[in-house]
Parts: sequence; structure tokens; C-alpha cells
Amino acid sequence: MPELPEVETVKETLKTKLIGKKIEQVFVYHNNVVEYPEVDLFINCLSNQTIQNIERRGKWLLFELDNYYLLSHLRMEGKYFFREKEEPKLSHELVKFDFTDNESLRYHDTRKFGKMHLLKKEEIWNKKPLNELGLEPWDSNLTIDYLKQKYKNKTIPIKTALLDQGIITGIGNIYADEILYLSHIYPLKKSCDLTKKELQNIILHTRNVLSRAIELGGTTIRSFSSSEGVHGLFQNELYIHGKTECENCHTKVIKTKVGGRGTYYCPKCQKK
Ligand SMILES: [Zn+2]
Repeated sequence: MPELPEVETVKETLKTKLIGKKIEQVFVYHNNVVEYPEVDLFINCLSNQTIQNIERRGKWLLFELDNYYLLSHLRMEGKYFFREKEEPKLSHELVKFDFTDNESLRYHDTRKFGKMHLLKKEEIWNKKPLNELGLEPWDSNLTIDYLKQKYKNKTIPIKTALLDQGIITGIGNIYADEILYLSHIYPLKKSCDLTKKELQNIILHTRNVLSRAIELGGTTIRSFSSSEGVHGLFQNELYIHGKTECENCHTKVIKTKVGGRGTYYCPKCQKK
């Protein structure tokens, strides 16, 4: 699944190609990808809109148009490709955006879990899905007190709480393991039991891990590739996720499930 750093990489790649392009026509081949509004309205509203900018919030891509924001979440397998307009439909192509020049943008998704919303510009921050998102990792409001408040009644494991997009947005499964390893925290520790020092470490390492991953273009675990096939290097720098031995103490890494998600930790560096 593309995580925040991969979505950031996709965003940067799309920006270099798309800003200033005017949408001529949109084809939706799989209606379920359009969550809001109705597909016909979605198609009508998009025609003649120019792409002004592309931003990211959590794992959502935000295409800023003249009057709207097009929001796109890649979920498990969503990808964007650039093709000439006349080139035939790709297999698993769900949406095609034709521009007024010769080019088109194709949304491709083998699993069909990706979602798109089209909202009026003034609506995006107080409507689903963006109003449900927590703080960005680099938001100055992300403090020890903020996390203490959010976790105080939570008895769920910290690994699970880190994946809650309503608290901090953009931490996916691989990065949660990395953050807890670097913070020396046992993944099953109850969120409400974390000390100030541990919360501080979580904030520090969330920022470090995600910044480093963005710098390296995201991981390429599973089938992720950005729109132009940019490959990330971060997987070469993972400390714990997918490893068999701890680099720090050479203890055998434990692989388990927490909240249904594959979780790696060092029993010596991340004591109960
Ligand atoms: Zn260790």
C-alpha cells in the first residue's frame, strides 16, 4: 500500500506534468471509484477545469482545479500513468482524464479500492474525508500534550494507535514499525501507558522516518510505483520491518500480528 512518502513522491511527479493542463473530457470505467458526487456530475464538473496545483494531505492527493478540488486516494494498488489520448485503454484502467492537448492521465487500480471525491473548494476542509484526518507529522500542534490527550483513554496497542489516521495522519504499517523500533517501544504497549519521554520519541522519530523516506522517494515494497515508475530507495534503509535480525543487538526479530497487521520488533530493544 502506498504510504505517505510514496504519495508525496507521486504528488511531486504529477506536479511536473500536470500543472496548467486543462481537462477536456473524463471517462469513468468503474463507477465505484467515484465516492462523491454522482458519476455524471463528477464528469460534468471536471470538464474545462484547469489543474492549478497538486497538494497532499495524509495519503490523499488534492488536485486543485479552478472551482473544485479533486481528491484521490490510491488505497492498495492505485497508480497514475501518462499516455497519449489515442492510446488504448490499459487493463485495470478505471478513470481517464483527457486534456486539451494530446495527453491523458490514466488512473489504474487492479484491486479497485481507490477512491475519488470532487468537492467545491470552500467545502474540502469541513467535509469528508479531509475533516476526519488528524495532524500532519510536521504540524507544530503535534506535541506531547496533544498525544497524551488523544491516548489517555486508549488501551489499544500503540502500534494500532499510530495507524489511526484521525490522530496523526500518514503513518502506515511499515513506518509504524520503524518509528516504534527507533523509539524503543514495545508495539503492544497500551497507548495510555506511554511516558512523556516515549511520546516525545514517537514525535521525533515519526518526523525523521517520514522525512527520510520522502527524501528517498518512498519504499517500493509490494507493487507501488509512482506515475513515472520512480522507484524509492527507502526499503534499503528499513531497520526492523521485514528483517530477521536486529541490527543493534543481533537478537532474532519477532514477527507477529497487531490489530491484524504484520508487525516486526526486537524483543531486547523494545522490551515489554
Ligand atoms: Zn535489538
